[in-house]
Amino acid sequence: MSYDFDLFVIGAGSGGVRAARFAADFGARVAVAESRYLGGTCVNVGCVPKKLLVYGAHFSEEFHQAPGYGWHVPAPAFDWPTLIANKNREIERLNGVYRNLLVNSGVTLLEGHARLLDAHHLEVEGKRFSAERILIATGGWPQVPDIPGKELAITSNEAFFLEALPKRVLVVGGGYIAVEFASILHGLGAQTSLLYRGDLFLRGFDGGVRRHLKEELEKKGLDLQFNADIARLDKEADGSVCATLKDGRQLHADCVFYATGRRPMLDGLGLENTAVERDERGFVRVDDHYRTAEPSIFALGDVIGRVQLTPVALAEGMAVARWLFKRDQYRPVDYQAIPTAVFSLPNIGTVGLTEEEAADKHRISVYESRFRPMKLSLTEDQERTFMKLIVDVESDRILGCHMVGPDAGEIVQGLAVAIKAGATKRVFDETIGVHPTAAEEFVTMRTPRAS
Ligand code: FAD
Ligand code: NDP
Repeated sequence: MSYDFDLFVIGAGSGGVRAARFAADFGARVAVAESRYLGGTCVNVGCVPKKLLVYGAHFSEEFHQAPGYGWHVPAPAFDWPTLIANKNREIERLNGVYRNLLVNSGVTLLEGHARLLDAHHLEVEGKRFSAERILIATGGWPQVPDIPGKELAITSNEAFFLEALPKRVLVVGGGYIAVEFASILHGLGAQTSLLYRGDLFLRGFDGGVRRHLKEELEKKGLDLQFNADIARLDKEADGSVCATLKDGRQLHADCVFYATGRRPMLDGLGLENTAVERDERGFVRVDDHYRTAEPSIFALGDVIGRVQLTPVALAEGMAVARWLFKRDQYRPVDYQAIPTAVFSLPNIGTVGLTEEEAADKHRISVYESRFRPMKLSLTEDQERTFMKLIVDVESDRILGCHMVGPDAGEIVQGLAVAIKAGATKRVFDETIGVHPTAAEEFVTMRTPRAS
């Protein structure tokens, strides 16, 4: 039987584009359907615009620090529409880059919503196509709990396009997006409260990191409210929103921003026309080679709900392309010790086991350091950096490396290579530092913390 394409990819996000481009490079006839925006979540409403807003928010701290270095700047004024217009222009440029990447690789790009008709057939904007294999790379979508008034809330999708910076914001959630956007909005000048339902935000991160970030954010004046859960939202006469908490308290804001996780984007995909199965959380179930219960259909990235990070979707895209069309180069994705950053102000950078996880499985020693970054020594800013190394006593291997401080993501990326290569504490000790940097602290910590 002959098909229109060897591989039909649904979704031109991080994972879909990577799989499509490489499959085409390996000689396959490939099509990609994209219903919304080229580059997917990361480029349009995720990593990239978020990082631009983080840079924007950081300027307020720099202005504050400048007098210590002899710079006297007039009272800074921030203009949200300028930042958003410039951000939008950059994203449009990147959309074009993605278009060229696909077209120049020989991929057929179909702009429209794709719907599965059966295991080998799809429909895009009324046109039918057949493919030997189909890859679902449709990503995720923000999820807001079903409370009265939920339609009054915004999510990250809308936050990137607000016409004005709200004066008072309630950010709901305690994960990556809540913490990052609370930092962004506070840094840009909005009166910001972060409401999290548990005792301490960033569940799953190292305890020391979570506590340190809490202290630093509070020092900056961010209002953190833990054990706070919203029961309902109501619109006020002046257009603002009243949030009634489960404990009866009422909070008033101009904007309520929910960042309470992301569900798989499977709307109108036609999964019911195939044998594809979903797991108990609703994500597409795949085996070790990203194959669904329908043998011709594969899935990867956020829609399979393993690790919702762009570099992971990219690695999965590469793995699928090689598995299908270049088997001799196939290497499985290694999900161990995935480095990650939370771009709060200050940043978190982390790789490997948390102290809690490590202590559960190993006899460990912990090296910790807290210090005021050198850059702040001429300023009144009291921010402190936190670093932590977790070492397996038996093998001397570094099990975890965590940092809260400026450029933590940049620093931890380098250390992640060493940790992946199996570096021991002795290797860290024998490595000469780069002076004067904050990063050198990672190779100069000599005394383990008393347990
Ligand atoms: P996506 O990038 O979501 O792409 C899916 C694509 O499929 C979309 O373009 C969608 O329009 C399209 N689509 C869906 N259904 C159909 C259909 N039926 N037909 C045609 N097209 C369809 N990760 C990081 O590593 N670092 C970060 O700093 C970071 N920041 C983030 C900030 C925010 C606010 C958010 C929301 C996410 C962030 N992420 C970050 C996560 C990262 O964006 C995702 O993990 C990544 O984009 C997942 O890639 P994907 O290919 O699985 O899906
Ligand atoms: P996360 O899964 O990181 O966090 C969701 C948060 O919402 C948790 O604190 C969770 O609490 C809370 N929550 C969930 N349901 C409810 C509810 N019903 N009521 C109140 N609170 C609730 O999701 P995000 O939306 O922050 O981000 C989605 C994913 O995108 C991230 O997990 C990450 O993989 C990716 N991302 C990565 C970034 C990066 O790499 N820098 C940046 C942004 C996103 P609890 O912990 O108690 O369950």
